[in-house]
Amino acid sequence: MNFQWYPGHMTKAKRQMQEDIKLIDLVIELVDARIPLSSRNPDIDELGKNKYRLILMNKADLADRKATEQWSAFFKKKGYYVVSLDARSKNGMKSIADIIMEACKEKMERDRKRGIKNRPVRAMVVGIPNVGKSTFINSYAGKACAKTGNKPGVTKGKQWIRLSKSVELLDTPGILWPKFEDQKVGLRLALIGSIRDEILNTDELAVELIRFLKTQYPGILTERYEVEETQKETELLCGIAENRKCITKGGELDYSKAAALLIDEFRSGKLGKVTLEWPKEQENG
Ligand code: GDP
Repeated sequence: MNFQWYPGHMTKAKRQMQEDIKLIDLVIELVDARIPLSSRNPDIDELGKNKYRLILMNKADLADRKATEQWSAFFKKKGYYVVSLDARSKNGMKSIADIIMEACKEKMERDRKRGIKNRPVRAMVVGIPNVGKSTFINSYAGKACAKTGNKPGVTKGKQWIRLSKSVELLDTPGILWPKFEDQKVGLRLALIGSIRDEILNTDELAVELIRFLKTQYPGILTERYEVEETQKETELLCGIAENRKCITKGGELDYSKAAALLIDEFRSGKLGKVTLEWPKEQENG
């Protein structure tokens, strides 16, 4: 599969981020817990060097809990602070506030020693499109938090949201673009819905999803669609079409409709909690 992005668009976003990142102490990077590596852009490591780093594995409600635990350990070993969450829920936001303080304790200590009081930690949210950046900012900042208004030296229009006495968050997230060097990465991004569906071949995507689920989550398709998993992927898709009565006007099985339905049910978590990549794969190359 081939994907096309607009370089101008990307360059502008990157330049903006380079500017914004100068203003902050902590990068809050959102990734999708179902594909924690494929939903990252490694450029952030260069952009965010010398910054405190927190990775939020978002949409953890849709991911395999065991995989999320392993990914959490994987990133912690690399020196990031890590939290997994469902950004739509306000539960857990308190613990994120605590972790931000923990991640920045060095800076606070340094400020204290220098006699600097009440200088808040400044943070910004970054991530690829659709990982939940806006949802997180809304949940985290809530309605109660007043915007602090423009400050001298800050690009006009940029707002800081005061989260607590000691933390301020930039109100606009930084947008990163996913990297498609590897075909597997493109496929995984497509499966979670990070690429516009109009440019995808849904039938092909469904076949890939079936292939993956058959081997990695045996029984999951049988349970939902009463299909025999020993069949070939395309036959399995027919089975799904039959089970869900996906029929064309001409009275034939509608594979495309079944494919779209399968992908939709996967994305919304109806098939169960599924993670598409594991840290073990990484270690094995
Ligand atoms: P952004 O492009 O990174 O700002 O992403 P959005 O905040 O617009 O979120 C994209 C979609 O993901 C929206 O439909 C959200 O409701 C949904 N979403 C965000 N966070 C979560 C989460 O933790 N779990 C689930 N299931 N959906 C989420």
